[in-house]
Amino acid sequence: MAEKALLELSLPELREELAGKGLPKFRADQVYGWLLRGAGFDEMTNLPKSLREALAREYRVGGVRVERFLQSQKDGTVKFLFALEDGNLVEGVLMRHDYGNTLCISSQVGCRMGCAFCASTLEGKVRDLTAGEMLGEVIAASAYAAARGLVRTREERPVTNIVMMGSGEPLDNYENTVRFLRMVRDEKGLGISLRNISLSTCGLAPALRRFTQEGLPVTLSLSLHAPEDALRSTIMPVAKAYPLSEVMDAVRAYEAKTSRRVVFEYALMAGVNDRPGHAAQLASLVRGLRCHVNLIPLNPVPECGIPGTPPAGIEAFRRALEERHVSVTVRRSMGEDIEGACGQLRRRVLHANP
Ligand code: SAH
Repeated sequence: MAEKALLELSLPELREELAGKGLPKFRADQVYGWLLRGAGFDEMTNLPKSLREALAREYRVGGVRVERFLQSQKDGTVKFLFALEDGNLVEGVLMRHDYGNTLCISSQVGCRMGCAFCASTLEGKVRDLTAGEMLGEVIAASAYAAARGLVRTREERPVTNIVMMGSGEPLDNYENTVRFLRMVRDEKGLGISLRNISLSTCGLAPALRRFTQEGLPVTLSLSLHAPEDALRSTIMPVAKAYPLSEVMDAVRAYEAKTSRRVVFEYALMAGVNDRPGHAAQLASLVRGLRCHVNLIPLNPVPECGIPGTPPAGIEAFRRALEERHVSVTVRRSMGEDIEGACGQLRRRVLHANP
């Protein structure tokens, strides 16, 4: 297989690469346009056939391929299983909203963070995704959705928003994540505004401090799930490495630098983190910060054995936060009829085809 994947390159890098092969800038721009539409070399019809063949001998396209998809009958949500070129699989989810369409992408195959309630981490991390593969998820979902008319949108682009909330810990794959964000925002590329991108992290404090200096003001989502260290350590091993005092300092610095409201994610687990006292602690923890708390109804993972808090308990927790003047909403669950918990489609497919 050709070594170099063209989707790993930014437009200036692609121009330079192809200039090295004697190709003018307009050819590189044509190739880039095709790559962003998800085309293979044989589909790049405004290039001479000999050039298409030469490119195919020298390079790979890179990115991902849609291995399988499921569409919700209820709300149109599309769940994708993406195949990487080495056969690894990751998931993505495209959700339709009034304001546009949000794609949830993965940043690693598996995950090594070990959260007790999460399906993605059950078998550890297999490998990091490259920047081109993450970009490939956006391109593949867009191309697929556009071709099948799966999404109706007044906007031209099928994907308007991105959340890095699929499998993997983006800040544990730092270089590729930063490179991906720079490529996906590029006006000459997909041009998706950083305002429309969320990065979710379990709280790798040193990496978050470094990320704050990158000048990439995405919406930061912090996976909190517990308001104090002792409890948090029982469900999130990362809490043993980075206590909440350190994580919250890094979050405050991010908020100060970007002026973006931070989102705290809190999945409610019955008898674990859903008592009235937890709501009070959570309210004190986030006091004074421009932020929003997103309560998540737990997607129960059978292997994890942690039950979700029932709807009445979720509502009581929400009210307890609201009474303490915390901006809070309960995450609407989408595509309930097509997915088990996050990461479970991949597991189901892997275990069906050993
Ligand atoms: N590693 C990153 C991003 C991936 S997980 C992070 O930890 O934020 C995306 C979100 O889904 C996180 O808030 C994570 O805690 C949450 N999550 C994981 N498993 C879940 C489950 N079974 N039910 C509900 N939310 C879950």
